[in-house]
Amino acid sequence: MLRTHLTGLAAATIAAASVAISATTPAAAQQPQRPAIETTKVEGTEGVYIFRNQNHQAMFIVTKDGVIATDPVAYGRPTGGQAYVDAIKKVTDKPIKYLIYSHHHYDHIQGGKAFKDAGATIIAHKRAKERLAQLGDPNTPLPDQTVGKSKTIKLGGTTLELKYMGLHHSDSQLLMYLPKEKIIFVVDTIPVGSVPGRGMIDFYPLESEQFIKNVLQMDWERLIPGHPGAPNGRLGTKQDAQDQLELLQAASAEMKPLGLSGKCWDEGEKEFKLAKYASWPGYQNGLQFIARRYCGLWGRGT
Ligand SMILES: [Zn+2]
Repeated sequence: MLRTHLTGLAAATIAAASVAISATTPAAAQQPQRPAIETTKVEGTEGVYIFRNQNHQAMFIVTKDGVIATDPVAYGRPTGGQAYVDAIKKVTDKPIKYLIYSHHHYDHIQGGKAFKDAGATIIAHKRAKERLAQLGDPNTPLPDQTVGKSKTIKLGGTTLELKYMGLHHSDSQLLMYLPKEKIIFVVDTIPVGSVPGRGMIDFYPLESEQFIKNVLQMDWERLIPGHPGAPNGRLGTKQDAQDQLELLQAASAEMKPLGLSGKCWDEGEKEFKLAKYASWPGYQNGLQFIARRYCGLWGRGT
């Protein structure tokens, strides 16, 4: 028996190795050549960039009068906020004027302190401030300014609109819209080319369908997602938004009869399948989260 011959040290080494393997996300596994941290300029724009830290990403905009940054994406990465500030400094010597939190989830906004220390004004939806105040994480400073329905930031010739469009992924999300560039930044509600997963934990299914329909009515051409699009970190299109809407509608339709007939939680979650999406990235891991969320909806009314 090999197992009985393992020394404590060898066992620990194997345990550490398996942790490293399990920490590899499907998206990262497809792109082993990409560095952990990367800044990319969005093609065809004057100053729109994507900062990516492993499997999370954010948009920042460089203008002649300063920088508008979004989402520190530094959860579990104590130096991640500073790494993002440093990445911006490699692109421009202009000051970081604003940091916008897309919503209150730590995986996207922990690490804001580095931006605050750099002099940025932090802005978020008012509900995000309430939630962050309850949670009290010292690495995630409360916003200096809050947004109710909408707010427009104008800086150095760039216009960025912050829009609260109701409940969808979380109750605190601002959609960010660059009307001149026809770009939107939407986090977690509209994954690009992949099946949603853990984001379902704080997700309003029916409201999200309406949200995506409303987003489709807006005048934009490219969507920057909060996680790299599949494949190859691509940006999203209206077709991707339409595809995600149809995925949610299919999930809802699949679970509805199971939920209403009393099969939630265990039986309903086991029977739930989305065969059409079985080949999409994230299906294996995401299915259980989708099933549970829709069981909550149709089995409990939540
Ligand atoms: Zn989230």
